Parts: sequence; structure tokens; C-alpha cells
Amino acid sequence: MFDLRDLLRPHLRELIPYSSARDDYQGSFGVFLDANENPVGSITPEKWNRYPDPYQTKLKEKIAEIKGIIPGHIFLGNGSDEPIDLLFRAFCEPGVDNVIINPPTYGMYKVSADINNVTAREVLLTSDYDLDVDGIFEAMDMQTKIIFICSPNNPTGNDVTLSKIEQVLKAYNGLVVVDEAYIDFADRPSFIEKLSAYPNLIILQTFSKAWGLASLRLGMAFCSPEILSVLNKIKAPYNLSGLTQRTVLEALENKEEKDEMVSEILSSRTELKRLLSELPIVKKIHPSDANFYLVEIDNASEYYKRLIEKKVIVRDRSKVVLCDNCLRITVGTNYENFKLVQALKEIELV
Ligand SMILES: *Cc1c(COP(=O)(O)O)cnc(C)c1O
Repeated sequence: MFDLRDLLRPHLRELIPYSSARDDYQGSFGVFLDANENPVGSITPEKWNRYPDPYQTKLKEKIAEIKGIIPGHIFLGNGSDEPIDLLFRAFCEPGVDNVIINPPTYGMYKVSADINNVTAREVLLTSDYDLDVDGIFEAMDMQTKIIFICSPNNPTGNDVTLSKIEQVLKAYNGLVVVDEAYIDFADRPSFIEKLSAYPNLIILQTFSKAWGLASLRLGMAFCSPEILSVLNKIKAPYNLSGLTQRTVLEALENKEEKDEMVSEILSSRTELKRLLSELPIVKKIHPSDANFYLVEIDNASEYYKRLIEKKVIVRDRSKVVLCDNCLRITVGTNYENFKLVQALKEIELV
């Protein structure tokens, strides 16, 4: 049986969290002399002298509406990096507990594990970049607290088989993180639909990709109210700036614009694939459910360097396990994609 208290690090079970001025008094009118703010104003033209809402109530209400869930299932953080780190700090005892990751995958899970002195057990994806469920079951033990599954996966681009994720969710009593940073580019519903079925499920999404707000640093985690209350207890009190909260709240009024950008990127993705597939140096374009392609090219690192000389920057993944001779190429605008392909052709001629 799944019991969150068993997973939580013992010293956090009785933790008394920091109580901010905005926790103690939640009204919005009055003479506020409770937070040592500057009463005169700000050094900027716009006023930012008051502390922001620590629980981002308005923004969560809006996001809840868009995602079709209630605010009580939403955690917002400084990028997805924040909930990733908080999960380690909440559930993984340094030097004792472990997590499972599935390389080749997003690098932050391992880095966050290392920072927190937690072992990341690596269960490689299969040769077609799918989840090795048996391998995961073999690798886990009583000290395994979290399994990180990235789908659509970075850097491979593909969705893993969704029924395999559910197999893991069903058989395992620890936490399963499904990172859906690229969900908007995938042709399937989010795992948010499954939240009520699995108390151990945590879904990560972000405003950094489809929404075009990478610089604002806004990540989302969707989870049970019990997990949410743990994350809220240990997060920094004012983890999201007022600027981020207000800007995104306003932007969500025209959320259709995100869908338009996604359609544009999806059609550029199709076009990029067509252009790349015509190049003799391209050995394989891995299927993508995201806004990038993992592309196998002869002498990939050499091409990577030569592309930089031509001011076209892609990601060299050729030293990453199961990614021999692969470059990760973000889908750009049609113009950018044309420049990339032109540069590749020129290099080819030399
Ligand atoms: C880009 C990306 C993120 C986003 O991280 P932020 O901190 O929200 O910018 C999360 N997970 C994966 C797999 C990514 O590729």
C-alpha cells in the first residue's frame, strides 16, 4: 500500500514550516505594517515593494481552469528544477535513499540527485528508446523513493509507451515523476487525467517550452493534495516573483496564442524532417513528439563544431549513452531551419 508518511524523510514529519507575514494575515486591504516592506514605493517605475502571494492563488486558479483540475493539485515553482529539487529534499535521505532514472534522459534528475547526495540508479532505455520496465523492477529496492520518467523524452524526442508508465505506477509504492515538459507537442492527453487513479503520481510541466516563457522560470507540478502540502511546507516562502505571477496571469488571457505557436512549430517540425531526410550525411532522424529532433549524422561532433563556425548552434549529444553520433536539433522557424540545412550542405561540400 502507498503511504506518503512512510516515504517522507523522518525529520520532516513534524516540521513546523516558516510562517510568513502573508500566511499570518491573508486579507488584501488595510495598513500593512507586518512585513518590513518599503512603504514609500520602489526604485522602478512600477511598484514591486510588497511581497508576492506565497501560494500564487490567482495564477493557480487560472492554470487549474486551463488544465482541467482543481488548484489543490497544483504546485508552482521556479522552473521545473525547483519541484525536482524539492522532491529530493522531501523524500530522499542523503547517503541512504536512491532514485531511478532512465538514460539517455534529462540531465537535471541526476544533477539534483548528486547535489542532494542521493544515488541515481541508471536503467537504460531500450535500443528504441522505450522504458525497460523489467530493468526498473530489478533495480529498485526498499530505499528507492522516486522513479523519474521523461515523456516525451529529452534528448530522444519520443514518448515512451504509456502503458509501461502505468505498469510502473501500479507496481511501485514510491513516487513516480512523469516529466511532460514537451506535452504540448505530443499527440496524446496528459497524465493529469490519471492523477486521481495514482496517489504516487507527480506530473511535471513547464512554461519554458510551448508557452515561450523560459526566461520567466515557471514550472508546474501536478500531484495529490498530500504531496502538495509537503512541497509547500519546504519551499522558500516567496518562491515565485510577483512579476512572474502577474505576467503569466495576464498572458493566460490569450492562451490561444500558445496553440497557434504550437501549430506553427509542428508544421516547421514536419518541414525540418523533410529537409534533413534529403541530406546524405543524415543516417537517422529519430521520431519526435517534442519540439526537437535527435539526428544521427556521420562525425556528429565534427559537424557540431563546423556548425558553430557558421553560427548555427545545436546540441552535441554524441557522447551520451545510446546517442552515438547524435545531434539534438531544436525546431526553429522555417528560416532558421533553412539556415541550418544550408550550413549542413556547405559543410558537406568541403
Ligand atoms: C526543458 C525541460 C524542462 C524545463 O525546465 P524548466 O526548469 O521548467 O525550464 C523540464 N524537463 C525537461 C525534460 C526539459 O527538457
